[in-house]
Amino acid sequence: MSEAFDAVDVIITKRDAGELSDAQIDWVVDAYTRGVVAHEQMAALAMAILLNGMNRREISRWTAAMIATGDRMDFSGLSRPTADKHSTGGVGDKITLPLAPLVAACGVAVPQLSGRGLGHTGGTLDKLESIPGWRADLSYDDMLGQLHSVGAVICAAGATLAPADKLLYALRDVTGTVESIPLIASSIMSKKIAEGTGALVLDVKVGSGAFMKDLSNAQELARTMVALGTDAGVSTVALVTDMGTPLGRAVGNAVEVQESVEVLAGGGPRDVVELTLALAREMLAAVGRTEVDPADRLADGSAMDVWRAMISAQGGDADAPPRAARESADVKALVSGTLTRLDALGVGVAAWRLGAGRARKEDPVQAGAGVVLHAKPGDSVQAGDPLMTLLSDDAARFARAEEALEGAYDISDGSDKGPRPLVLDRIT
Ligand code: URA
Repeated sequence: MSEAFDAVDVIITKRDAGELSDAQIDWVVDAYTRGVVAHEQMAALAMAILLNGMNRREISRWTAAMIATGDRMDFSGLSRPTADKHSTGGVGDKITLPLAPLVAACGVAVPQLSGRGLGHTGGTLDKLESIPGWRADLSYDDMLGQLHSVGAVICAAGATLAPADKLLYALRDVTGTVESIPLIASSIMSKKIAEGTGALVLDVKVGSGAFMKDLSNAQELARTMVALGTDAGVSTVALVTDMGTPLGRAVGNAVEVQESVEVLAGGGPRDVVELTLALAREMLAAVGRTEVDPADRLADGSAMDVWRAMISAQGGDADAPPRAARESADVKALVSGTLTRLDALGVGVAAWRLGAGRARKEDPVQAGAGVVLHAKPGDSVQAGDPLMTLLSDDAARFARAEEALEGAYDISDGSDKGPRPLVLDRIT
């Protein structure tokens, strides 16, 4: 079959900071998925895009071209409206776990396609897979059935959802081209638009533990994604939230499930509850359900009922005790004072090195590994108190985890500034 374009010409257009035409974009994304454009050619194009950017038309067309390489889901036959949430990824970010059943308990269907973690940020599926028996892989019919019966489903995105993104994301991961706003925005939004949700709330993280380290880049990413969603007819809003310090007190897999269950039981750390409720309110507002207060559904136990139904519908035992790591070690405060800084990246890398995350896609993760924080910024600590507990099945991992934590926190005798605001901006 003769091809409409030559990959080298497309690369040169972007290398020289030109605009790609709609036809060039449609062709290059499709031809890469068909194996006609080679990985090294797509790597060169991704680098040219990272360096020279894409305008709104190009990003929108690139997203549509990625969607067109796969299937689109359709939940419009459900009796309830649908809403989904996507986080750009952080440390201790377990919010999807309490949020999906909570929003379902408010009468909205939540089809949540999630991923596994790579690098220092955890993946929702890895967390849920720490529950004995729980299955991430569902067919489209299973998903639809569970949305009818339970109202919420968290599962793996199938291979036919934006397959171009699967290839391109794996390529970007090994070619230093992840941190491009057009490529991140189109990657995330192609999957979310193909998933067919009616409304989408984005949690764009900013800070040391996030892709975006500064507020203006996070705001630009949020604006780009909101525009893509809106152009595709999905009611989309973004919150830009702080990821300078871990969310909650648990970072890992089983420990994050345990903390999520505490939130569903009406307790849990203040920041996790605050962000869960803020995102739930946005999801409800996006589908016009402002009369329901999600805080009531946490308090009356109905969100917990949906959680239990959601876990058991996917083969999980909601009553099983959390998987525990075989070994533990405390990191102690050397001086007394106020914990003024606890760096998300340092804690995330420590949890990853303890076995909670993976270095390569095919690596297994440990269910019980992670870090439990005994103090958060603003708390006072005494010399000799445990600041955090490291958990792993393999005690040999503790030394490298402790290295990641060197310089990751400050204890001072100065005044207590208290917790920083969590929600930094809202973009519509
Ligand atoms: N998550 C995605 O799905 N894609 C990106 O490019 C970055 C984060």
